[in-house]
Amino acid sequence: MGKTATKGRKRRTVTPAMQARSAASKAAANELLHNYAVLCLNNPVEFEAYRQAAASLGWKLDPASSEPGYSLLNIALLLSQRRGLTHCAGFRDWLAQGRQVAVSEEALGTFRRIGRKKQNEAQGKPKPEDGQDGEKRKERNRGYYVKRGTFDVSQTVPNTRCPHCGTEPDGTERSTAQCPPTCPVFLPRDSVLPPRDYITNLLSAQIKDDDEDEGDE
Ligand SMILES: [Zn+2]
Repeated sequence: MGKTATKGRKRRTVTPAMQARSAASKAAANELLHNYAVLCLNNPVEFEAYRQAAASLGWKLDPASSEPGYSLLNIALLLSQRRGLTHCAGFRDWLAQGRQVAVSEEALGTFRRIGRKKQNEAQGKPKPEDGQDGEKRKERNRGYYVKRGTFDVSQTVPNTRCPHCGTEPDGTERSTAQCPPTCPVFLPRDSVLPPRDYITNLLSAQIKDDDEDEGDE
């Protein structure tokens, strides 16, 4: 932060405090990602768990696409914060599915873009994608922030009678009645696994670029 010229890109109304929080949040996310990438690349069990989670959560190749699901980078970031994820959604999406975020559960963070897409498209640049070379990744890194608003199904409880197991909310505003661990709502979705090569490249990029990213913001 601070030393590099801002190249006229700081047009948003952002206070220094907000910038500092955002930079700290990104730094923390990148450190988690780094550690998770090292772990997965050295531990075949974690590596395969990542692929299984990606299949269950719903992965997509193009992070900028409006299709449902998560980019593989965001899935890595989510898993670096919490293991064993099977179904993720935002607070309101869970309500729409008859569940609510349990008391004291903390939201997981994902990377979101800051209005870079339009600018890139206007300049005729291709959309940066996960798992591509360092240039693209760095380009994307400059225009993202960490948004905390994602919860795994294990962080939610039914707010109406669970259609899978019949668990009823306890009648209080913030029910603590949870489905049993055997409830099918927690089961991973069986779907297409992301290719191993792709995951290896993406994880390696999280480690390789770490030093270059120092002082980038
Ligand atoms: Zn249930």
